[in-house]
Amino acid sequence: MFPVPADGLLLPVPDDDGAPFWAYAARGELRVQICRDCGVRRFPPRPCCPHCRSFESEWQKVSGRGRVWSYVVAHPPLLPSYAALAPYDVAVVELVEDPAIRLVGNLVAAPDAPLGSVDAARLRIGAPVRAVFCALGEGSERVTVPRWMLERP
Ligand SMILES: [Zn+2]
Repeated sequence: MFPVPADGLLLPVPDDDGAPFWAYAARGELRVQICRDCGVRRFPPRPCCPHCRSFESEWQKVSGRGRVWSYVVAHPPLLPSYAALAPYDVAVVELVEDPAIRLVGNLVAAPDAPLGSVDAARLRIGAPVRAVFCALGEGSERVTVPRWMLERP
């Protein structure tokens, strides 16, 4: 069951493997798992290295800089709460440290700006971006998500 806050937007539900990712995000840090044995980064979080099958890993801080690998601009039909925000972008961002690591998120004009705050006409594949952090939800369901700002607004 996904928590549905008053604004009707669905929140991430951290699981055991991903909990550190969300805890670091709440501190304003973007971190990804890196294998202690072979040094390959991986995302999404999981217990075992898909490269060498090691269970030894740590959470490596990354710069938060990336590039737009792909994006879409969402339009209705959408769930009602999302339709109210449309049009807004959903981007896949590759990290500069490791383009094989891609995160899905939204581009925003400022850390606390709403979805759809970046003019879709300005979006380009390859555009440099940097992570910002936005706290969503209330109480025990509060979660901080990474979002992305264009490096050249
Ligand atoms: Zn490994």
